[in-house]
Amino acid sequence: MKTDVLIVGAGFAGTSTAFHLSQHFSGSILLIEKEECPGFHASGRNASLVLQSTANRELRQVVAASRTAYDELSEEVGFEPHGSLLLGKKDQLEEIREPDLITSEYRDPQEIYRQVPQLKGHEFEAALWTPSDGVMDISLLLQFYLAGARSRGAELWLNCQLLNIKGEGPYRMETSRGTIEARYLVNAAGAWAQQVARMAGALQVPLSSFKRHLFVLDEVSSLTPSQPFVWSLAQNFYFRPESGGLLISICDEEETTSLEPTVSPDISQALAELVWLELPALRLATQREVWSCFRTKALDDSFVIGWDSAAENFFWVAGLGGHGVGSSWELGRLAAQRFLNPTHTARQPFDPSRFETTLHPELTPQPLLKT
Ligand SMILES: Cc1cc2nc3c(=O)[nH]c(=O)nc-3n(C[C@H](O)[C@H](O)[C@H](O)COP(=O)(O)OP(=O)(O)OC[C@H]3O[C@@H](n4cnc5c(N)ncnc54)[C@H](O)[C@@H]3O)c2cc1C
Repeated sequence: MKTDVLIVGAGFAGTSTAFHLSQHFSGSILLIEKEECPGFHASGRNASLVLQSTANRELRQVVAASRTAYDELSEEVGFEPHGSLLLGKKDQLEEIREPDLITSEYRDPQEIYRQVPQLKGHEFEAALWTPSDGVMDISLLLQFYLAGARSRGAELWLNCQLLNIKGEGPYRMETSRGTIEARYLVNAAGAWAQQVARMAGALQVPLSSFKRHLFVLDEVSSLTPSQPFVWSLAQNFYFRPESGGLLISICDEEETTSLEPTVSPDISQALAELVWLELPALRLATQREVWSCFRTKALDDSFVIGWDSAAENFFWVAGLGGHGVGSSWELGRLAAQRFLNPTHTARQPFDPSRFETTLHPELTPQPLLKT
């Protein structure tokens, strides 16, 4: 099999890049996914929140631009702009607030307790209301990107794992479905992006994966499906309605290299403690479900989008951290634009060459023992 572009990974990074690239690139595009369905890992197991007020200004712009697109596509991608309430200290909220880009306002605690009765008994200093945030149907969004890419000729191969790589554009790759030759390789492999980079002799971008759990609780009173999602920056939890119950995270973050999405033995106890101390209105709720998945972040907590400076014809779309849903439209658009207009400059936000060790010797791995 020969293709012009091979994209590794059918999560939001890979599918959105395929969607946008197929609009402007006349060559062939093949998207491969090692699992039996797209979005099997982080892109299908996340909290589905579109949260624009993130800590990094460049990411805020990407999410805000994506959010505008989701609004226009709301029926096709199932975006529900029910708003968000961010709780925390006033200075925490001021740091992430960007009134020129995202409309938001502070709300009185009494009003918040009426809007979200599950917060009764929880104390907080300030609450920021952002009406344009919301919740996505992540399955519809993934299918939307895939259908768009396929309608323009891109192919998707499932159960196809990239195993090793020879050459540099054309790449000759062994996969679990045979040999594939490609002129260009796009690394959209999520938590496995470093493995793919290693196979190709690309830059060793410092990426780490962090396990996070999500729970669904039942027996939660006064829930309405259209209530906003809540995120406490001060106490590290978030929740939103989910099919008659409440989806909740305690924002746990365990760095791991195993990449097995197992449930940690003490995690339900950690949730119970948080509920007991911070969310008394949920003390009688019962746990319906719990699962885990990985958020993969670069050392500087920013995206990695652009051409590699060590391996020829190798392109990155990785390090989406906790923002892959909210940002997916714009990051795919940006990836396609950079793919088609190579500039190889570290000055652009998200460019992988910011991690070249010649530019940043402090990023060179240090030997454990001095010899
Ligand atoms: C618990 C949790 C909650 C989250 N909540 C939110 C949220 O509310 N809002 C938000 O915006 N973001 C959220 N995120 C983050 C979001 O899920 C991720 O940023 C996003 O899904 C990452 O997409 P990706 O395509 O980079 O990775 P993935 O979805 O992991 O896709 C990478 C794909 O590559 C495939 N692959 C890897 N290696 C190979 C290989 N060698 N050959 C073939 N295929 C390969 C994998 O099987 C995988 O399917 C959350 C994440 C977690 C863990």
